[in-house]
Amino acid sequence: MAGTSDYSQVCAQLRLSPRHWLVTGVAGFIGSHLLETLLELGQTVRGLDNFSTGHRHNLAQVRERVGEQAWRRFTLIEGDIRDVQACARACAGVDLVLHQAALGSVPRSLSEPQLYHDVNLGGFLCMMDAVRTAGVGRFVYASSSAIYGNHPGLPKVEQAIGEPLSPYALSKHANELYAQLYGRCYGTEAVGLRYFNVFGPRQDPLGAYAAVIPRWLAAMLAGEPVRINGDGSTSRDFCYVANAVQANLLAATSVQPQAVNEVFNVAVNGRTSLLQLHAAMQELLLEEWPRMRLPAPLHGDFRAGDVRHSQADIGRATRLLGYAPTHDLRQGLRQTVAWYAAQEHGSRV
Ligand code: NAD
Repeated sequence: MAGTSDYSQVCAQLRLSPRHWLVTGVAGFIGSHLLETLLELGQTVRGLDNFSTGHRHNLAQVRERVGEQAWRRFTLIEGDIRDVQACARACAGVDLVLHQAALGSVPRSLSEPQLYHDVNLGGFLCMMDAVRTAGVGRFVYASSSAIYGNHPGLPKVEQAIGEPLSPYALSKHANELYAQLYGRCYGTEAVGLRYFNVFGPRQDPLGAYAAVIPRWLAAMLAGEPVRINGDGSTSRDFCYVANAVQANLLAATSVQPQAVNEVFNVAVNGRTSLLQLHAAMQELLLEEWPRMRLPAPLHGDFRAGDVRHSQADIGRATRLLGYAPTHDLRQGLRQTVAWYAAQEHGSRV
């Protein structure tokens, strides 16, 4: 896939006129990539995280990658998005907010609906209110493809959503409704990004709620069989993290009035079944290590709350934000496999 001129222009402009950013969930997977890119672009970044699912080693890795000089432009607030004062402190004096902090697992939300309500909805409202009070220029927030729920249409277009199938999906839908309401009532500028399955380096492979790509990679690198939920026909639009970073920066800086107080699909308009994903990962690993032993996958039940098929129409993001993904699944997987293999190697030596 080719690079994108809109994005290159935004990056060049940011280098010329650096801004002050807040990234919530900065120690998480996507948040740490946003931090890395912003610091590389000469921006000043504040981070807010309570380390509930994020990790200090993600921040340590960003520090190593950007170097000490850039790292000095980063400050961390260890705090909770449900804490009004922490949100106010985090928003004071910043130009732009990229809100990533949330609990992110569909199955976990089915086990702990009250917690999801508190963090994903209560915390979101705390952040929106701090943004309003501090007069922040723009609030870009992580929404989710889970919003499409039981709507059968494919590819997914932003205006056609179904009923939510989990407390997680409902919380993200409510986030969008609050963002729109704040736009109408208070003139807040918010942009929602409906991420589809984002993957890449630093995504947590551990725990019962790990996402499919890091979980499978960890298993494959350990020579263990992967577990496929259902018959493997479930399909997803897997989106490399660099594409999600691009969407955030475009949304934060867009001067297109129609893009404000809107929501956008963020993916690549691809559709890959779990069986195809498994084959692609296997192929990449064997290309790199021809003698690797890869046992046949095991099949389990379909997972409750999961949408069966997912594919994004990215036309709106392309038209209004100038979004043009730089990595397709294979290009992203190649980078991801290399990173996890290096981690694995590092932990053994
Ligand atoms: P992640 O778990 O790696 O990152 C979330 C971060 O938020 C973590 O660092 C965590 O410690 C922090 N956090 C959680 N609760 C907090 C709280 N109460 N106060 C402060 N910090 C808190 O997850 P991620 O994959 O990077 O997801 C980032 C965002 O993108 C989330 O909002 C998630 O719902 C959304 N999203 C992700 C995907 C995906 O495929 N990764 C897909 C759709 C939507």
